[in-house]
Amino acid sequence: MTLIDTRTPNPKSFIKGARGDWEIVIGMEVHAQVTSESKLFSGSSTEFGSPPNANVSFVDAAMPGMLPVINAECVRQAVRTGLGLKAKINKRSIFDRKNYFYPDLPQGYQISQFKDPIVGEGSVFLDMGGDEHIEIGIERLHLEQDAGKSIHDQHPNMSFVDLNRSGVALMEIVSKPDLRNSDEAKAYLSKLRTILRYLGTCDGNMEEGSMRADINVSVRKPGGEFGTRCEIKNVNSIRFAGQAIEFEARRQIDILEDGGKIDQETRLYDPKTGETRSMRSKEEAHDYRYFPDPDLLPLEFDQAFIDELAQHLPELPDDKQARFIKEYGVTPYDAMVLTLERESADYYEAAVKFGGAKRDGKAVANLVNGDIAAFANSQGLSVFETQIKPGQIAGIVDLVAAGTISSKGAKDVLQIIIAEEPEGDPADIVERRGLKQVTDLGAIEAVIDEIIAANPGQVAAVKAKPTVLGWFVGQAMKASGGKANPQALNELLKKKLGIE
Ligand code: ADP
Ligand code: MG
Repeated sequence: MTLIDTRTPNPKSFIKGARGDWEIVIGMEVHAQVTSESKLFSGSSTEFGSPPNANVSFVDAAMPGMLPVINAECVRQAVRTGLGLKAKINKRSIFDRKNYFYPDLPQGYQISQFKDPIVGEGSVFLDMGGDEHIEIGIERLHLEQDAGKSIHDQHPNMSFVDLNRSGVALMEIVSKPDLRNSDEAKAYLSKLRTILRYLGTCDGNMEEGSMRADINVSVRKPGGEFGTRCEIKNVNSIRFAGQAIEFEARRQIDILEDGGKIDQETRLYDPKTGETRSMRSKEEAHDYRYFPDPDLLPLEFDQAFIDELAQHLPELPDDKQARFIKEYGVTPYDAMVLTLERESADYYEAAVKFGGAKRDGKAVANLVNGDIAAFANSQGLSVFETQIKPGQIAGIVDLVAAGTISSKGAKDVLQIIIAEEPEGDPADIVERRGLKQVTDLGAIEAVIDEIIAANPGQVAAVKAKPTVLGWFVGQAMKASGGKANPQALNELLKKKLGIE
């Protein structure tokens, strides 16, 4: 791959060394397991968690004379992913054999794509907060088989092999070396996972290994020539990816500043120590002797096949985010958070439109991204997985809009739904529990007069500094048990204190 620098050096991502600034350069190879009932070249099930070797056909076990047959669904999924990455779809691609020996690779080679992948160049947009939007280039996406798994911890002097994963379809998604710091790298993984989940082409479950990243890291003087890279293999969490990059960049900078040079090598990240360590150097690197698999014809399809898939693509996260900003008036940040997961976006929209009404999208976003998200986090859930229903959110927002409850009252109703009445109707809860905000302040007028009489110092202060009014509002609100309508309270206090 020819390396082209598409980014303007940004001092924000420079790292200080003993001898000036350094810049990190990162490119990723992400392996994403294709969501499909059966494997890439056989009809065996891909189910996770089956007993060892339960999902192994003669093809997966590489019995002599068995022939691979391409799974059309995996091809569709790869093309759909390519479309989601705004990438060039190659109507003709080739499966190659990548030859190497490993006990959990019974064929003695992996069927992959080398020179002619199914998907070419594309891009992923990252929202880095504020006004910072960056575009990360995709180099290619190709289809390949996964290997089996060797198990070394079941017996004192034997190893076992589980071939359940052998032959499962993977998409390898290769980025250009466009990432410049660990935050961008984490944002890239997160965005890629979001896109794959929207498309339904990979479940993005990093703990189960359905998505893992090989992270290429090099350092250089800002804007200078690309440095020699090291590849950190098989990172299976976004957090670890960030930690691995930070450690690796620092390690390389220290070597270079001591006058050493970086050996191109494959390394492993150990989350326990927070360090990367060498696995193999480029000198020991394999020569895979790629050649086209003689058992498989070139993979060919026409434009109509691509168009049909494009037509049925779901709304993608970037488009949904833009629509939420335009249609509901939410901030770009809120829209980004709301669209991280397709189900959460649907949940939000269901609340906005509940009962055919069109309520304030911002008010709904505040509730969903605020108190509901906080509750969801505390339970390790996403907002749409909580017991709080879109209809209940709509009910609360409507009560606030009608002035029946204050925003503090909204919080109280939500807490009651969470802790006591999961099925509760907000209007009913407010009624039964006397949570209505008090607009008629006659009941607490005497208390307000007392507060004013007892605090001559503050009365004098508020004349000079109108912001002191907040103190009076706070006191009076407390006296009302938090139920006073803040606006009405403000008006009344101003009148009594003779300001404005
Ligand atoms: P290979 O095929 O040997 O793995 P590629 O050229 O295909 O190498 O690149 C693999 C990955 O490494 C890509 O994601 C690419 O962006 C990244 N990469 C290439 N050069 C560098 C570099 N100097 N620093 C960081 N990443 C790099
Ligand atoms: Mg590689």
